[in-house]
Amino acid sequence: MTSISRRKFLTASALAVGATLVPFSPVTAFAKSDKKPDITGTIFKNDAPESLWKWSREVDHYQKLPGKKVVCGICPNSCVLAENDRSVCRSRVNKGGKLYTLTYGNPCAVHLDPIEKKPLFHFHPKSQALSIATTGCNFRCLNCQNWQISQVKPEAVRHYEMFPEAVVKKAKEYQAASIAYTYTEPTTYFEYMIDTARIARQNGLYNLWVSNGFINPGPLLELCEVLDAANVNLKSFSDELYRKLNGGRLEPVLNTFKTMHEQGVHFEMTTLVVPGYVDDPEMVKSMCGWILENLGPDHPLHFLRFFPRYKLDRLPPAPISKLTEFRNLAMKEGIRYVYVGNVPGHEGNHTYCHNCGKLLVKRTGYHIPEYNLNGSHCKFCDTEIPGVWS
Ligand code: SF4
Repeated sequence: MTSISRRKFLTASALAVGATLVPFSPVTAFAKSDKKPDITGTIFKNDAPESLWKWSREVDHYQKLPGKKVVCGICPNSCVLAENDRSVCRSRVNKGGKLYTLTYGNPCAVHLDPIEKKPLFHFHPKSQALSIATTGCNFRCLNCQNWQISQVKPEAVRHYEMFPEAVVKKAKEYQAASIAYTYTEPTTYFEYMIDTARIARQNGLYNLWVSNGFINPGPLLELCEVLDAANVNLKSFSDELYRKLNGGRLEPVLNTFKTMHEQGVHFEMTTLVVPGYVDDPEMVKSMCGWILENLGPDHPLHFLRFFPRYKLDRLPPAPISKLTEFRNLAMKEGIRYVYVGNVPGHEGNHTYCHNCGKLLVKRTGYHIPEYNLNGSHCKFCDTEIPGVWS
């Protein structure tokens, strides 16, 4: 496999499991159906085909309960599964009183991305990340961008066969600097992620986590040991909105930020600005107050523009003026690096020194035509810029 080209590799791998070549957009290309799934259910009955058990492993983070029930310990959903039940994230099953994952080594998306796409703007800019995802999510966001793979069972999509060693080997072959666990919710394929991350670390690769942050403290601490950077969503600053828009809760996500900050992991935060949901300046002000008090001013914050998607496909795109307003507000409150995403050409695409205000990193899409840092210092005033720079 090592001697074939990237394109040939994708073709060969995809054909091996009956999929087609995915040169650029694995998310939509891998969906077998455009029918939006019913997301009202919580615990499912196990209907996983026998062939899926090839990608199963008994998991570490769970407890056995009386009557062959189990409770999963990975995320705050704390799924309690009777024998032959299937989890909220659709990828875990109670078989014979033991908890198994069905997403170990069967990614439905494999892609080489610029790190700026995650988005990570203050971590090794211009580097490439081999990005992987299996199916599954522990949230139910009405505006999900990747619902075709996040809100389905693993058997509903075509996939590659790539066990952890193969992922690392492929990342090295492509000369990627990092492996990104992304696109869906990596917490739901925790075992596959952490085994890959450990091997990646031994091989000099960075590990990136792109997540909703809804994870229990034990697995998170384990992950932090091999994590180099993360982009975690702060979807809003309202528990009510988290429940209504995302099917989640705010408090566990805030705890994730506090833990990563304490552990010294580089992370950036992303908030999607959604008309009628996440568009209240007072809420953004409160959010910034919490960030400053608990995390300080240096973790970059990205406001992304909403476009109609999934269950919210009748909403208009978020007004650009709202994103500009939120960026100005967050900077006025004291957050030093605030970005605007999904708005090409906006001044908030770029990085400016928090001391002298001069342009440090100019971005055009995922390209960087201008770069004014010496190591981790501003080229103009020598101020140290937070982040991990090449
Ligand atoms: S990771 Fe999946 S099975 Fe485990 S608690 Fe969360 S939603 Fe439930």
